[in-house]
Amino acid sequence: MIALSGITKRFGDHTVLDHIDLELERGEIIVVIGPSGTGKSTLLRCINFLETPDEGQLTVGDLNLDVTRATKQDILALRRRTAFVFQNYALFANKTALENIAESMIVVQGMAKAEAHHRAREILERIGLADRADAYPAALSGGQQQRIGIGRAMATGAEVILFDEPTSALDPEWVEEVLGLMKQLATERQTMIVVSHEMQFAREVADRVVFMDGGRIVEQAPPDRLFTQPDDERTRAFLRKIL
Ligand code: ADP
Ligand code: MG
Repeated sequence: MIALSGITKRFGDHTVLDHIDLELERGEIIVVIGPSGTGKSTLLRCINFLETPDEGQLTVGDLNLDVTRATKQDILALRRRTAFVFQNYALFANKTALENIAESMIVVQGMAKAEAHHRAREILERIGLADRADAYPAALSGGQQQRIGIGRAMATGAEVILFDEPTSALDPEWVEEVLGLMKQLATERQTMIVVSHEMQFAREVADRVVFMDGGRIVEQAPPDRLFTQPDDERTRAFLRKIL
């Protein structure tokens, strides 16, 4: 359902992603790990053209692109099929929780405001924040803001949700509620690519863990295998540091 083939990204003469190949089935959940500066965020950003890849093919659902030939329409179509959850939430500060969730339905999907607000209320129920519909982000805890960030991604109806270290900016007390919501989405078989160093989450939820280093995928395997018998010395060294 999602396929990256030969995805390459350079910043000047620095090759940050070096011919990345990656495939996901619908409903699959993968967790991407690896040292800082290794290209994990850039990989997610290339999947929805927050960064423009320099080379490669990208398939999301029925959309198949040669990234060097992507038109504006292709990019819009790609963004409708992908949603992003940012480390720092990136909510609209001047919009309420409800409005943050409704925004993409109105602007991107062209839904009438009343219908979008109705659906946003349903999402607020699902993410356990029905009682905070009218709150502005500044009045919400970090955990609540990130749950709104996830609710906003759910509202897009995207085929895949891309999470870039969704809990790493949170105070420890809020991490569990955000991971809990992500686990709930996983049970519903929402396709997800999650960059995270929450190893317990990866163990419980990931179908596959992908280890990246130096702009390449070094190895990928189900969590049981990757965490206990990694093939590559770089994976072993990284796991020794974080486990
Ligand atoms: P990770 O998320 O694994 O920590 P990133 O994808 O953020 O890694 O970054 C990979 C490399 O690309 C780093 O060396 C970073 O400095 C560089 N990089 C990321 N974004 C840019 C940019 N917009 N311009 C130049 N270099 C960048
Ligand atoms: Mg990053």
